[in-house]
Amino acid sequence: MRIICVKLLAMKLCLRDIDAFPARVCLKADPDSFKINYDGVFGTRQVEVDLDIQKSGDEFFCQADVRGIVVLECARCLEHYEAELTSIINFIVCSKATYDEFRKEAEDDETYIFYRGEEQAVDISEIVRQSIMLAVPMMPICSDDCKGLCPTCGINLNLHDCDCSQEHIDERWEGLRDLRDR
Ligand SMILES: [Zn+2]
Ligand SMILES: [Zn+2]
Repeated sequence: MRIICVKLLAMKLCLRDIDAFPARVCLKADPDSFKINYDGVFGTRQVEVDLDIQKSGDEFFCQADVRGIVVLECARCLEHYEAELTSIINFIVCSKATYDEFRKEAEDDETYIFYRGEEQAVDISEIVRQSIMLAVPMMPICSDDCKGLCPTCGINLNLHDCDCSQEHIDERWEGLRDLRDR
């Protein structure tokens, strides 16, 4: 297995440069140009993709391990924090002509990306970007023990204590207190 590392502005993959399969290709996006514009993502720190590629006929079967470090907003304390999002995507790279000839009628569920030109270059930025967006949690939490905001005074309880917090965290015990007082 050959390992090729490249750092590119976009996630451009040149298949012609690979002479032995299966091959592993590591792509690193430049965070200054690879941005994820998505609700709830407040910054993109780093995006890396490890691609395992197997060639079969004129098609390249790719499995991509995507890792992105992005800035999210904690749903409890509303602070921004860096989170690592991961996902695995599978897709097939081939020429439009190959697809039209062998695959078009099959109507399978695979994702196809067409390469262009002599160097068989393909830009996978968009599929990588989408996989990171899908990995953004509905309720991002900065840490399992994030204490959130005080519901009364709004102070960030990870950073400060407040006097009202004591009275409010015991809601779940209220029922038991009623029993005891009976
Ligand atoms: Zn938090
Ligand atoms: Zn408070």
